Amino acid sequence: DGVDYTGVRVVAAMKKVPATHWYLVVKIDRDEVFSALKGIIGQIVTITILIILTLAFFLVFLWWNQRAKFYKGKYEDELERLALIKHFDYILKYANDIILLFNKNYIIVEANDRAIDTYQYSRDELIGINVTELRSPEALSTIKKDLDLLEKNGYATIETIHRRKDGTTFPIEISARKVDIEGAKFYQSISRDISERKEAEETLMQSEERFRKVFEDSPFGMVMTGKDLGIIKVNSAFCKMLGYGEEELVGLTFKDFTHPEHISQDELSILRLVAKEIPIYHTEKRYIKKDLSIIWGSTTVNIIRNKEGEALLLFAMVQDITERKKTESDLIAAKEKAEESDRLKTAFLHNISHEIRTPMNAILGFSTLLNEPGIQEDERNQFIEVISQSSSQLLSIINDIVDLASIESGQVKLNVQKININEELRNLREQFSYKQEPVGISLNLKTTLEDSDGYISTDKTKLIQILSNLINNAFKFTKKGKITFGYVLKKNNLEFYVEDTGVGIPSEYQNRVFDRFYQVDSTISRHYSGTGLGLSICKAYVELLGGRIWLKSVPDEGSIFYFTIPYKQ
Ligand code: ADP
Repeated sequence: DGVDYTGVRVVAAMKKVPATHWYLVVKIDRDEVFSALKGIIGQIVTITILIILTLAFFLVFLWWNQRAKFYKGKYEDELERLALIKHFDYILKYANDIILLFNKNYIIVEANDRAIDTYQYSRDELIGINVTELRSPEALSTIKKDLDLLEKNGYATIETIHRRKDGTTFPIEISARKVDIEGAKFYQSISRDISERKEAEETLMQSEERFRKVFEDSPFGMVMTGKDLGIIKVNSAFCKMLGYGEEELVGLTFKDFTHPEHISQDELSILRLVAKEIPIYHTEKRYIKKDLSIIWGSTTVNIIRNKEGEALLLFAMVQDITERKKTESDLIAAKEKAEESDRLKTAFLHNISHEIRTPMNAILGFSTLLNEPGIQEDERNQFIEVISQSSSQLLSIINDIVDLASIESGQVKLNVQKININEELRNLREQFSYKQEPVGISLNLKTTLEDSDGYISTDKTKLIQILSNLINNAFKFTKKGKITFGYVLKKNNLEFYVEDTGVGIPSEYQNRVFDRFYQVDSTISRHYSGTGLGLSICKAYVELLGGRIWLKSVPDEGSIFYFTIPYKQ
């Protein structure tokens, strides 16, 4: 870098020419060297300035934008603040609740319209009042405790009694809170007059009490269950009815004490009740008591639902109708018996007229024939035989009726005498022997005591009549085979039997053949004659002689009639 001889700033280079004293110098003007560079620098500067300007513009734009946003935000915040103030003003003014602000000495510093309405003070009167003046005198004793709690926890919910300016009182629920405003302590309270709620609570309590009383004091059994049918509550009448204690029943279900025959019907009906298919379920069913005895209960089941209609509780009322049921079944039995006896009497009248008319017709008919002239000797004998048989048949019917009448009027007397039973039975067999031949049925006698032991004291006529009736029946109802009769000594009784191989008696009729007028086949077209009185007379006589009578029989195989009399010598 230097200045040349012309005084111009140059850039030069100098080098010694080797092996000489000469130096070679080359130079160029600085302007010439830097002219190209200057052009480029100019451009760079221009671009740089442009970039800086653009950036500056951009930054200014951003800054502007930010400020606009900031002011917009501020504006919106201000709007919101104003809206909030207005909103709280409205709340304060129109709130349904009483809103009060107290200073640290519990003096009212602010009150809303509702407070003014409720306490009936003017705003100016209300502001400045101490909280104690709001309390009714009877609730003042707890105020210290309430304020301590508020102080300690920072908040408190208090239920107490306040009074109005005129001295009238009302229950109030207060929600109070400690607030800090700019370092100063205040208490804010939001309260509500709960007179209506209290009244509703009172009404509810009374109605619950009434319900409890009705439930408990009811003479009917009362049961309350959940929808799972588990018992929640029972009254003492129900406990007494089933013989359980209340604590034993709670948790059980109706299935635990319902007769198994009713359970499926109950379950089905309760499902229908829950599904609203039926409004109420009424049933008469058997309950099993704790001591396993059975009672009848008239049961009405009702359902209690919530507002949505879902089942909440089931409520059953049970009345013990065991006595009524018994009377009913006794009445039904008596009615059936009366009807049966009526039917039997009609059948009897029908039979008796038939039984009397048949031999009477024979007697009349054959007596007339006897008067016919030119009648042969053997014909006459035959007619007389028929008349004689018919007469004795008639006599036996009349005897039966007379016997029955005597039994009914209690006039039968025993005529006890000493007899030898083997001898009497042999005679009886002899008397019946004539019956064997025509029907081809043998009559066998089996005596088990020695003749010397066969003496007994009894009413011979009645004993023979019983056996005759049974043997007569055996002949009447036996078409083939044999008839055996006899006795065995059992303890102190002689057990007589008459066994046949006849038609037998179906088991359902076996108890009834001893009833008066009862005949297994009582249709008009029946095959056997008779009045249905023989066995009832036998039964009455056997009992009179101090024994009992029964039978064993298999239809189509035969029957054995047994009876006992005391073995008294
Ligand atoms: P009756 O023989 O006059 O009809 P009973 O009182 O003697 O009256 O008998 C009542 C009923 O009992 C008879 O009608 C008959 O149906 C049935 N019975 C009695 N004895 C026998 C027997 N040995 N075998 C089958 N049935 C009999």
